[in-house]
Amino acid sequence: MTEAEKHDIKSLLPNELEEALKALGEPKFRAKQIFTWLNRGAVSFEEMTNLSKPLRAKLDDAFYITAPRVARRQVSQIDGTVKYLWELRDGNAVETVVMSYRHGNTVCISTQVGCRQGCAFCASTIGGLVRNLTPGEMLDEVLFSQLDSGMPISNIVLMGIGEPLDNFENVQKFLKLVNHPDGMNIGMRHISLSTCGLIEKFDELAALDLQLTLSVSLHAPDDETRSRLMPANRGRGVDALIDACERYFEKTGRRISFEYAMIDGVNDTPAEAKLLAKRAKKAHAHVNLIPLNHVEERQFGPSKPEALRTFIKILEDEGVNVTVRRKLGGDVEASCGQLRRKAAQKKE
Ligand code: SAH
Repeated sequence: MTEAEKHDIKSLLPNELEEALKALGEPKFRAKQIFTWLNRGAVSFEEMTNLSKPLRAKLDDAFYITAPRVARRQVSQIDGTVKYLWELRDGNAVETVVMSYRHGNTVCISTQVGCRQGCAFCASTIGGLVRNLTPGEMLDEVLFSQLDSGMPISNIVLMGIGEPLDNFENVQKFLKLVNHPDGMNIGMRHISLSTCGLIEKFDELAALDLQLTLSVSLHAPDDETRSRLMPANRGRGVDALIDACERYFEKTGRRISFEYAMIDGVNDTPAEAKLLAKRAKKAHAHVNLIPLNHVEERQFGPSKPEALRTFIKILEDEGVNVTVRRKLGGDVEASCGQLRRKAAQKKE
């Protein structure tokens, strides 16, 4: 086969790999061997020494193995956060961040090259959507971050570049791959999926009955501000979003987390805190306040400490479970598509 005709082997689930091997006239058990090699980071069929040479050649003729190249690696001097800019097979780039917490290492992965959701405060969306990541490319982010950093990964957050529910099929497959006992075997309870609120996908996600945590990027409790900040709110609305969250909670029994970036003078008044508390209680949601990261191209700034304190107090007085996200990797532009953006600007 020519390079262009070859198939992406890492995006195949073990049962699909079995089918593919059957088509090559090979026994099923080879699938498990190959899956294991791929999930340990093998970058060529040559390395798969428990397969015969003719089989390795046959596989090499039919498939390719993705392996992103480290285009840039930045290690925070403050807290050890590692940020990767990966160059993919087609030359596109995405970011992955590895953060160290008391409970283990968390990797924050991208789900798309670019993003088409257009959030006003976010760097990832500035150049629009280029393409979806494949299941194998998302797996590679976890796998190669672990291999390169030497930090064993126990948790995954889908909070990097892109909107996971806008690439839902590939994301579902990625979750199955990374959760597989013969692969990285990362438990669903250790995975969080963050969305800007594509509510038409919520029921489908709930029906899958995964044990993952759903995070909803709320950022404003009213339609006027939310639609201004997040175009995804237009035509959907906060009421419908809260209803969808409530249904999700009722179906899965799992508490949703509201992400709320505190933006100076935009969404941080006491009135907004009160409305947020009402919304959070209706949706049975936990609130995670995020100090806004300044993005060069955006005019927004983080809330003043005093506004943050008042905001938290109102939520707590209302009985809402609230946490403030610790800022990690502040010296390595470890957030929200900033590194990819920098690299793109250099090329421009
Ligand atoms: N598309 C998904 C996941 C990617 S964004 C989503 O919208 O949830 C991950 C989180 O970072 C989201 O909560 C997003 O709103 C937030 N975010 C984006 N830009 C930010 C910035 N400049 N400062 C703080 N948080 C930001």
